[in-house]
Amino acid sequence: KKRILSGIQASGSLHLGNYLGALKKFADMQSDDAERFFFIADLHAITVWQEPQKLLDQTREIAACYLAAGVDIEKSTIFPQSAVTGHVELAWIFNCVARLGWLDRMTQFKDKAGKDKERASVGLYTYPVLQAADILLYKATHVPVGEDQRQHLELTRDVAKKFNHDFEVDYFPVPETLYQGPGARIMSLRDGMAKMSKSDPSDNSRINLTDDADTIASKIKKAKSDADVLPEAAEGLENRPEAKNLVGIYAALAGTSVADVLNDFGGKGFGAFKPALAEVVVEKMAPISQRLRGLLADPAEIDRVLKIGADRANEVAAPVVKDVKKIVGLWAGS
Ligand code: ATP
Ligand code: MG
Repeated sequence: KKRILSGIQASGSLHLGNYLGALKKFADMQSDDAERFFFIADLHAITVWQEPQKLLDQTREIAACYLAAGVDIEKSTIFPQSAVTGHVELAWIFNCVARLGWLDRMTQFKDKAGKDKERASVGLYTYPVLQAADILLYKATHVPVGEDQRQHLELTRDVAKKFNHDFEVDYFPVPETLYQGPGARIMSLRDGMAKMSKSDPSDNSRINLTDDADTIASKIKKAKSDADVLPEAAEGLENRPEAKNLVGIYAALAGTSVADVLNDFGGKGFGAFKPALAEVVVEKMAPISQRLRGLLADPAEIDRVLKIGADRANEVAAPVVKDVKKIVGLWAGS
């Protein structure tokens, strides 16, 4: 049985990268008969400091973003990670399956911990293990994520294989990752070598789903670019990361190819391209941000959606926790 699962951290407001790399894909893959689970990773968010009230607001806001982007609770289960205790239970067991050497190789930890890693939380270090638990708790078979999650998903696959091997079972499916397609890696508007992130301190580095048209236009106008005109063909974008990113955003949102965009804009400078890009971004994002504002005005409705999702997710997760306890030899009742 095909089971799709993915999550988004409650670490801030969602941006265009989250939309193109994750939300849009989730909404677009609701037509087959797979089961779908989409959660708000509040436990992952607290691996770095979060103001408690803000964390709660962000959790509801991300639930609203799922809905605004077109995730339908008739077809998908939306829930907060912390509302299903199995995530944490499995994470501990997987902490004992995963090896230190595996975690030492994780580049996201190195990026997020910065220079002073002695002061990073232990949670930030074992973050990929909790992520393995998130996925395997539902025995997910397919995990749609952005390209930045490639290494973590490989670790999840390793945990599944090692668990099955160590306990001589064929219990966890080894999940397939889905990160192809346009929008899988949107870069910061301020630095073409860094990915667009919620946790980037500069708000000008990203376009948030809540930004209005003027803000979007002004961020694109300020976006880092170069002095050259756009090339006639995609190869001309190599070694021009900012230009490549802006053209890529245009193509992903307009639903065309980079080649098509360059057909129209090859030979033109950013003075002509940026306003056109701003127009596309505003046009595509406006309906979503409008729905989002409507949803955010009714937090009680969001809580209702989350409660339904948490109950459904718990129904699927509880038997898996019980099975795993038995396999490991932990007392799970008679
Ligand atoms: P943080 O900075 O707190 O890690 P984030 O912006 O990286 O936040 P996550 O919650 O970690 O967002 O990721 C949620 C989903 O969005 C994941 O599937 C991730 O791969 C995807 N994603 C995040 N950033 C981008 C990006 N720049 N381009 C495409 N997909 C992205
Ligand atoms: Mg991230």
